[in-house]
Amino acid sequence: DPEVNEYRASLAIRVSGFDVPRPIKTFEDSGFSVELMKAISKQGYEKPTPIQCQALPIVLSGRDIIGIAKTGSGKTAAFVLPMIVHIMDQPELQKEEGPIGVICAPTRELAHQIFVEAKKFSKSHGIRVSAVYGGMSKLDQYKELKAGCEIVVATPGRLIDMIRKKAFTMLRATYLVLDEADRMFDLGFEPQIRSIVGQIRPDRQTLLFSATMPRKVEKLAREILTDPVRVTVGEIG
Ligand code: ADP
Ligand code: MG
Repeated sequence: DPEVNEYRASLAIRVSGFDVPRPIKTFEDSGFSVELMKAISKQGYEKPTPIQCQALPIVLSGRDIIGIAKTGSGKTAAFVLPMIVHIMDQPELQKEEGPIGVICAPTRELAHQIFVEAKKFSKSHGIRVSAVYGGMSKLDQYKELKAGCEIVVATPGRLIDMIRKKAFTMLRATYLVLDEADRMFDLGFEPQIRSIVGQIRPDRQTLLFSATMPRKVEKLAREILTDPVRVTVGEIG
């Protein structure tokens, strides 16, 4: 479709993969619920950023994605908004179940930013978000996780620690996000990431975001994603 190609080019979006959904132009095009639309406008987001225009329809269709876009391009909402939709479509968590959405980020600071963003969109939906990284005592963290939550935002080391302590199980986890994958590799988290992915059911939806795609990250993506669509925004990647 030449019109779609032209629109992608105007946003500096490149895609690869089969049957790639067409990019959206407005948040309304995503078919978000009234509550989610309210939460979006409350953030002052008037229209989706380029990565959001292309990533939202891909992720909302249930596909795996590799998203490559520079810092500040709005990647967080590109995975948090569809995660809310995904969770609302799932049966409610029973006691001792959860989380449904698992987000891994390289550092405590980055994980905290995601935690804050995720909470803004989750609150009106009764979705609970837990932060699993340094800063809270491990005991308090354990107790919070035991009480149940739909979303966990974590650094890899602390997440593995909490899984080992049986603070939660991964049986209900169906939406996995690896954010800033290149930085997680730079920080030596590849074994932890592989361990986490290995504990999450293979029929999950997997999203991998990165500013760059070094060969090691490419290899991991090939191993853990299923028929992904690859989206690159701008000159990088
Ligand atoms: P990235 O993860 O790509 O570095 P972020 O998700 O942290 O980028 O977003 C960068 C900034 O842009 C944040 O302050 C965020 O609130 C804001 N932002 C995200 N999406 C939009 C949007 N559609 N409209 C306006 N601002 C947005
Ligand atoms: Mg980010």
